[in-house]
Amino acid sequence: MPSVETMCGGGIGGGVSARHNDRVTTDEFVVTCPYCGEDCEVYVEPDVAGTFVQDCEVCCNPWRLRVSGRGDDRSIDVARADGSE
Ligand SMILES: [Zn+2]
Repeated sequence: MPSVETMCGGGIGGGVSARHNDRVTTDEFVVTCPYCGEDCEVYVEPDVAGTFVQDCEVCCNPWRLRVSGRGDDRSIDVARADGSE
């Protein structure tokens, strides 16, 4: 159980130094494999953009993953990377 610090606005000597947002950078996406239909989590480095290929961890077929947007607005598309649609 993490202790919840009292969130008193201001009044802390020296100012707030350890501002902690609960906002989590969305590095992980759940994609549905176009081959086997399983939902799989994909980790995408924060600085990754564009298209890359990764194998499904369930059926090992290649996905073509396309990252669009940036920051918290990122989304990911998955398609087959073997040339078939
Ligand atoms: Zn699969």
